[in-house]
Amino acid sequence: MLVAGLGVSGAAAARVLLARGDDVLLTDAAEPAVLAELVAAGARWLGALSEPPEDVHLVVTSPGWRPDSPLLRTAAARGVEVIGEPELAWRLRIAAPGAEPAPWFAVTGTNGKTTTVTMLESVLLAAGRRAVAAGNVGRPLIEVVTARDADGTPAHDAIAVELSSFQLHWSSSIAPAGACVLNVADDHVDWHGSFDAYRDAKAQLLRLAPVAVADAGDPVASGLVGGHRHPVTVTLGEPERGQLGVRAGALVDRAFSAEPAGEVLVELDALQVRGPHNTVNALAAAALARVAGVDAAAVGRGLAGFRGGAHRNVLVGSVDGIDFVDDSKATNPHAAGASLAAYPRVVWIAGGLLKGADVDPLVAAVAPRLAGVVLLGRDREVLARSLARHAPTVPRTVVPSGDDGGVVTDGDSVMREVVAAAVRLARPGDTVLLAPAAASMDVFTDYAHRGRAFADAVRALG
Ligand code: ADP
Repeated sequence: MLVAGLGVSGAAAARVLLARGDDVLLTDAAEPAVLAELVAAGARWLGALSEPPEDVHLVVTSPGWRPDSPLLRTAAARGVEVIGEPELAWRLRIAAPGAEPAPWFAVTGTNGKTTTVTMLESVLLAAGRRAVAAGNVGRPLIEVVTARDADGTPAHDAIAVELSSFQLHWSSSIAPAGACVLNVADDHVDWHGSFDAYRDAKAQLLRLAPVAVADAGDPVASGLVGGHRHPVTVTLGEPERGQLGVRAGALVDRAFSAEPAGEVLVELDALQVRGPHNTVNALAAAALARVAGVDAAAVGRGLAGFRGGAHRNVLVGSVDGIDFVDDSKATNPHAAGASLAAYPRVVWIAGGLLKGADVDPLVAAVAPRLAGVVLLGRDREVLARSLARHAPTVPRTVVPSGDDGGVVTDGDSVMREVVAAAVRLARPGDTVLLAPAAASMDVFTDYAHRGRAFADAVRALG
């Protein structure tokens, strides 16, 4: 078989296939760093390809490759099966003798996937499961589903799985024990070709799952689970029967509890992550944990013990009564909207690569919270025009940057200028929020670099 794209998941797939004794061919646009290792293990390197060799019957593609790339297009035209690494992992799961492989509890959505999946991992571990978070969250699934302990038994008994729309596009038989589509908003439409194709990729996750979870507040996601045989939704309001929600300051389960009034899982105040969006994530993680059979007390312990992820609504400093929050991971308008909703008066740092997303609904919705805006990055003028339409009286500063075609010149000095401008617009009590609604690669190496540059600039303020 042909492994196309040798990033982290492609390399992991190649290693597992080689260890099984499969005949493995490799292709990528450029020579990958892992090439020598894989060739030494028996793989054959074919360099860049625009069509699969005649004798290839299966292509394992990297999630980054577009379906319309020449290699994948020709493979499809010839009837060669193309799958992603998660689908391969599903097919190659190991099990103890006489037992089923570890169940998958899977999450997709435009935003909140990593947070929800790592919350779920925290809950499963609190319940004493040998659980792990894998997939788009970082660790390749293929590695996790084939891992064994020293005594040869499978290393995990439950897997919290994050799947992106790209990965789902190349999946066909994955049947999670519980599946969640958190939300579906405008993102990555350029890759999928249309919003409908993007939504359908997400819906794919629910097809073979016995229980389907969604955020009731998201019309597209709740529409997708609406037709499912066992739909469960989560709400920031009081839960109805069949829902998890919030009552009297606590998270309550009225979907899986035998009690008609439901069971309290945890007090909202006990959660260490901020914002209504994180409450939604916690409820979704709780729903999947309940599908896994975790009791209410362990759900509460796992959620309360969860500290949140880097660059996701992290308070990085307070100077002269102004809080500085790094939500660099808000890489699309939907995420930035959720983030801004968590703070009453915000100096908003935004801009970068908008990936064709429409920013007007976001800007119109957040305008009343804005004390000021600092714009950066290649698509800054798109945001400036939208602000001129929907928030004309909000003061804004534009920091020219990102115009040199993705060459990272000096993101750190750009960010120092951005933070200085934000300080000039803020007054005590305000939050300066880095939630750019855009990808970072026009000015920074990635969103983590953008977040670090922000934290460094804040520290330099003293
Ligand atoms: P993903 O893995 O889907 O990118 P993350 O958990 O890494 O999601 O969160 C990315 C960003 O999305 C966060 O920094 C926050 O701005 C926003 N976000 C998180 N959860 C939600 C949610 N449930 N709804 C909307 N936005 C969210």
